Amino acid sequence: MDNEFQTTQTPISVNEWLRPHIRTLKPYSSARDEYSGKVGLFLDANENALGSPIGTNFSRYPDPLQRALKEKLSHIKSVHPEQIFLGNGSDEAIDLLFRAFCEPGKDHVLLLPPTYGMYQVSADINTIPVFSVPLTADYQIPVEKVLQQVTPHTKMIFICSPNNPSGNLMRLADIERVVQHAPGLVIIDEAYIDFSPEASLLQSLFLQYPQLVILQTFSKAWGLANLRLGMAFAHPDIIEVFNRIKPPYNVNGYTQQMALASLEQEEKKNQMVQEILALRDELAELLKEVPIVHHIHPSDANFLLVNIKDANQIYHQLIESRIIVRNRTRVMLCADCLRITVGTKTENEQLVSALHALSNDKN
Ligand SMILES: *Cc1c(COP(=O)(O)O)cnc(C)c1O
Repeated sequence: MDNEFQTTQTPISVNEWLRPHIRTLKPYSSARDEYSGKVGLFLDANENALGSPIGTNFSRYPDPLQRALKEKLSHIKSVHPEQIFLGNGSDEAIDLLFRAFCEPGKDHVLLLPPTYGMYQVSADINTIPVFSVPLTADYQIPVEKVLQQVTPHTKMIFICSPNNPSGNLMRLADIERVVQHAPGLVIIDEAYIDFSPEASLLQSLFLQYPQLVILQTFSKAWGLANLRLGMAFAHPDIIEVFNRIKPPYNVNGYTQQMALASLEQEEKKNQMVQEILALRDELAELLKEVPIVHHIHPSDANFLLVNIKDANQIYHQLIESRIIVRNRTRVMLCADCLRITVGTKTENEQLVSALHALSNDKN
C-alpha cells in the first residue's frame, strides 16, 4: 500500500460484521479477471471479434474493477484505490451493504427520517427490520435517542449529510458520537457534499474509524446522473467484500470512459457548483417574496425544502403548468413541504412566477 494514504489501515475483523455465508463466498471469476494485460489475442470471453454495428468501441467487456477510474479518483479524493468501490449508482452500494452485512431474522438497521428513501427500500427488499429515530425539529441527529435504540444487532446506521430532503448538514460532533457507539457500520451518504460549505468526512472521521462507509455519487454535482455511477469509500477489507459479491461488470465501459474524462475537468464541475449555489440563493430570495411561501429551510445542497400554504394542492397546480417539484407533504417532519431542485435562472423564474400566480388565486 502507498505510504501516502496509510492513515486508515487499522486492521479490522470484517468477518465479525459479515453474514456467515458471505465470509466463505467464492466469487465468479470472469475471463478478464484471470488475465488483465492490455495486449494479446483475446479469445477468452466469447465477444464479437468483428466489432458491432456501431464500430469496435463497445465490443469488449469493460474492466470489472474500473482500475483506471479508481486510480484517477484516488488522487482527487486522497484515498487509496483499494478503498474505493464504484457501482451502478450509489443505490448499488446501498444494496450490497445490506446483502453483505445484514442477516435476516437477526440484524436490523437504524434510519433517521425524514431521509433518502432508498435505505428503507433496500432494507425491505432484503427483509431487514428498520428502527427509525426521527431527526430533531431542526433536522439534526437526536444523539441520545439514537444511542438508546442501538443494540448489538444494529448492523448499520445511515446518516445522510447534507440530508435529503431537508438539505442541511449534520453536525460533525453528533456524527462522531454515533460512530463511537455504533456496534456495526455507519454509512454517511454525501451525495450533496460538493454543494456544502464543509469538507467531506473522507478528510476527517474516515481516517480514524474503519467502520465508516462514505457514499458519494456522480449524479449531482458532477452532472452525470444518466451514466449511473456511485462511489463508496471504505476500509479495503470492506471494499474487497463488495468486489466479491457485485455483478462482475457492474459499471459499463462507456460510463467508465466518460467519468474519467470528467475527472480531468474537475475545475468545470467546481464552477458549476458555484453557479448553482448562487442560483440557489437567488431562488431563495425570490421565494421569500411569494405570499404563500411560509418558510425556506436553510440548504447546504442544490435544492430547497420549502414550506408552502396548502402545499399538496400547489404541487398539483404546478403540475398543471408542467412544473414538477417533489411533493414531500406526506413525509415525516415535512408537512406542507415541497422539495425544489435549483434550476437555471429562467427555470427558477418560471417557477416563482407560477407560484405568484397561484398566490393571487388564493386571495
Ligand atoms: C441523489 C441521491 C443519491 C444518488 O443516487 P445515485 O444512485 O448515485 O444516482 C444518493 N443519496 C442521496 C441522499 C441522494 O439524494
